[in-house]
Amino acid sequence: MIVPIDLEAPKGRLILPQVQTIREALDHDASVLVVKEREYAQALDKLKIYPDIVVGDSQVVLKMVMETPEPIKCTTFSILFARNKGDLIEMARGAAVIGSLKPNDKIMIAEACSHHAIEDDIGRVKLPRWLKQYVGGDLQMEVYSGRDFPENLKEYKLIVHCGGCMLTRREALSRIHQAQEEKVPITNYGLCISFSQGVIQRVLSPFPAALEAFQNEMLRRKPAFSAPRGLKSL
Ligand code: SF4
Repeated sequence: MIVPIDLEAPKGRLILPQVQTIREALDHDASVLVVKEREYAQALDKLKIYPDIVVGDSQVVLKMVMETPEPIKCTTFSILFARNKGDLIEMARGAAVIGSLKPNDKIMIAEACSHHAIEDDIGRVKLPRWLKQYVGGDLQMEVYSGRDFPENLKEYKLIVHCGGCMLTRREALSRIHQAQEEKVPITNYGLCISFSQGVIQRVLSPFPAALEAFQNEMLRRKPAFSAPRGLKSL
């Protein structure tokens, strides 16, 4: 597991998705090695056998993919939690919408808790920056946090939800259903980052049904789709 210790990391502890993933692995009699991104390549080199899977924080997804030899599966905490708590297939399908976003489209950023936003906050700073870079123009971004989830979803081209670690599965699914009813695509931070960094197919590949949903939606939206800006094939 690759766990960056950056400004957003809480002091003295790991965050819930990381702790839960470690616990889940231990419950299944697996061994876990946890490293920061700078130590990852060296740690992998020292192993006598390759790990069955590498799980990294979405913020270091590009580095993880670049430093993980092709036979080793890799994914992100965000993908594991989208699968565990919500609906990974729907979220993967939603991520494909990023490929057809245009400048000035309206995007909703939804955070399930009202944590204190820091200077380089992912939802308010990093994610909008990556999306705007990818789209090649400005986007209208609106942030909702906590229990605040607007009724009028129709005006958004895409909802990008946080990992939802504070939501129950029922609450997470209810938000997804609300978006589905309004026919507004929904994805999450991690998938969005992986898409904009061009590595979403690699990190979805441990989950073939989700990868297929993503690829089909890309093809449906862009019939002449052939690896656009930054979207590397596997
Ligand atoms: S609920 Fe969302 S915004 Fe709050 S800590 Fe969890 S992932 Fe972050």
